Amino acid sequence: MLDEKYVSEIVAKVVKSMDVEDACRKQKGVFDTMEEALEAVTKARELYRGYSIEQREKIISCIRKLILEEAGEMARLGVEETGMGNVADKTIKHQLVANKTPGTEDLHPVALTGDQGLTLIEMAPYGIIGSITPSTNPSETVLCNSIGMLAAGNGVVFNPHPNAKKTANYAVDLVNRAVLEAGGPENIVVSVKNPTMDSSNVMMKSPVVRMLVATGGPGVVRALLSSGKKAIGAGAGNPPVIVDNTADVKKAAKDIVDGASFDNNLPCIAEKECFAFADIADELIDEMTKNGAYLIRGEQIDRLLKIALIEKDGKYVINKKWVGKDAKKFLKELGIESDAKLIICETEEMHPFVQVEMMMPVLAVVRVKDIDEAITMAVRAEHGNRHSAHIHSKNIDHLTCFARAVETTIFVKNAPSYAGIGAGGEGYTTFTIAGPTGEGLTAAHSFTRQRRCVMVDGLHII
Ligand code: NAD
Repeated sequence: MLDEKYVSEIVAKVVKSMDVEDACRKQKGVFDTMEEALEAVTKARELYRGYSIEQREKIISCIRKLILEEAGEMARLGVEETGMGNVADKTIKHQLVANKTPGTEDLHPVALTGDQGLTLIEMAPYGIIGSITPSTNPSETVLCNSIGMLAAGNGVVFNPHPNAKKTANYAVDLVNRAVLEAGGPENIVVSVKNPTMDSSNVMMKSPVVRMLVATGGPGVVRALLSSGKKAIGAGAGNPPVIVDNTADVKKAAKDIVDGASFDNNLPCIAEKECFAFADIADELIDEMTKNGAYLIRGEQIDRLLKIALIEKDGKYVINKKWVGKDAKKFLKELGIESDAKLIICETEEMHPFVQVEMMMPVLAVVRVKDIDEAITMAVRAEHGNRHSAHIHSKNIDHLTCFARAVETTIFVKNAPSYAGIGAGGEGYTTFTIAGPTGEGLTAAHSFTRQRRCVMVDGLHII
């Protein structure tokens, strides 16, 4: 007979010793307090001011190299710590950051010349940027923001999501190792060991922090915008996808399953509800099930609702325990054994699976009679976030009308949602998509101040 008390005491001891081990392994750039982190990055930034663009680029190359070497490890750590997403897709996200986040080439100065001489507009660093990062892409956001912010000449202080601090701080350590390997200053990117709301407040209020960047849900974006500082807010989405009767239905079905199941639907850009023309809906659902989706019906939908969402004051909110979990785990709860990567179900427009940003591999499909109805419902489901929306159609009028009506930062046509951040689509990648403050897909240029330098009568050579 096992003595449960004895076993749990041993487990507690082992866990404690692991924590101590973790704490002993000093991570570069990770400090006990926000005050220490701010002091260190201030010193580093003084040195970094003197670095040339070429030196910045050398640092960025080293960061890219280390990300590619350690992508799998960070993906594993992210899944282990947060219990969300899956290792294969998180590995791809890290590779995307390494390969497609712009560096210093993103900084384009402007020259205006004329009868009165030459005026130059240069993209100058802000100084030190305070960055708040989410639990859904913890290391990806730290790495992507670091590349862009360092390319622009800034130092960075992170206050990561408390539930993903180990993964985020692994990334901070990685960046510092790369910076040192490239001959850069230590602590140009810093963080705190145990981020809290208090450390976040210290960071936001610190006079050395000249710009704030927050990637997360509505709460953090609101807090940031009331900080009184220059702020970039990358907030929540609830991306709809429309499929009309001119679409290549087989391809649309595969693309939607691939996009909506990617990293268990954690990405803010991922398809979160589908509006399908009634005359192709059966075929679409059938094709989805051939591409890794599992269709649930009737009381199975009601049971899944009770698992995934919680009713609070007449409104549904997500059950955080289930965010980013594998589809097969949900199915198991319903008594179904399946390796499906996405659960689909038919619902009405106002069903919570349509209206709530769930970040779970669950996609509701709503039948619509025509494009007007599809657009009206899709715009309502997007809730004015102006984040991302997607469509499968060959009708140019449908594509154009939806894009105009929904006004999102990202709009993907005839591809999985992730094409919008450069995976299988043209364009660079980012994990900070700034809808509310309008910078769009952030990159080095977003983290700069424009400075004008005027030379009258000289240097105009024609
Ligand atoms: P979250 O809002 O719970 O946390 C994000 C960060 O903000 C964390 O570091 C958290 O500690 C902090 N935070 C939360 N409320 C705060 C407040 N009032 N003041 C100061 N800090 C606060 O988000 P999450 O669950 O980690 O991530 C998922 C959400 O983020 C989703 O809504 C998703 O759409 C969004 N997201 C957006 C983007 C984008 O680029 N637009 C990218 C990733 C995630």
